[in-house]
Amino acid sequence: MSMKGKNALITGSARGLGKEMALVLAKEGCNIIINDIEVMKEEALKTVSEIKGLGVKAEFVAADVSNFESCKKMADEVKQKFGKLHILVNNAGITKDRTLKKMVPEEWYPVINVNLNSLYNVTHNLLGMIPEGGRIINISSVAGISGNFGQTNYASTKAGVIGFTKSLAKEVGKLKITVNAVAPGFIKSAMTDKIPMEMLSQILQLIPLREIGQPTDVANAVKFLASDDAKYISGMVLKVDGGISF
Ligand code: NAD
Repeated sequence: MSMKGKNALITGSARGLGKEMALVLAKEGCNIIINDIEVMKEEALKTVSEIKGLGVKAEFVAADVSNFESCKKMADEVKQKFGKLHILVNNAGITKDRTLKKMVPEEWYPVINVNLNSLYNVTHNLLGMIPEGGRIINISSVAGISGNFGQTNYASTKAGVIGFTKSLAKEVGKLKITVNAVAPGFIKSAMTDKIPMEMLSQILQLIPLREIGQPTDVANAVKFLASDDAKYISGMVLKVDGGISF
């Protein structure tokens, strides 16, 4: 599973699951491009120095994935500093939960822009830099498969991520680039720390493995899909959810 010397960009990776993916790929020998929004610079630079401590190259490239021009600039910077991009993980995502009836435009549109329009903005601009054997991994969610109360906006984007993944897999297969999605369930993170205790214990009853997942569980799935071992897997959705959605 040699990833030594490969370049990997993970969007929204200053913290959370994206950071864990960056650390796991760095431990395999990948050079890492940490992307996040400018306001996350301090946290992103801490992540960069943690990764450099693992003996690989690491850089922070600020960009707002919901903005096309910002992603174009990011692509130029990545090209100049790294030349090629072997692994792209579209991970950046936000939630703004509310039942549809009460949901205001300020809760609908940003979620669509950050979670779904970003796939076009980021991937369109970086695709030309991804060589034969490259990997694109998009982070969906079980909410995009089963739906979730209060998440019409979020679930729509995560279902969209799956459609994007399958379509792009068909387009770039001839270039030996694989495109897959990872659909996490409930994973310990800032996102799930917001869930009230009472609701969390109800959720645990629905998870066959009776525990919340860890960021490394998701990062290890990303590592597998990024590896040579997954070279004949494309257009798939790998659920990492303790069995909640099968
Ligand atoms: P998080 O909030 O901890 O991290 C998300 C990161 O994305 C943050 O660093 C944030 O600054 C960054 N980001 C937000 N908007 C951005 C933008 N416009 N441009 C660039 N970066 C931006 O969240 P997380 O829990 O680590 O989630 C990561 C991904 O996993 C998301 O796509 C999320 O939907 C998905 N996911 C998470 C869970 C979970 O349980 N945590 C479950 C299913 C799916």
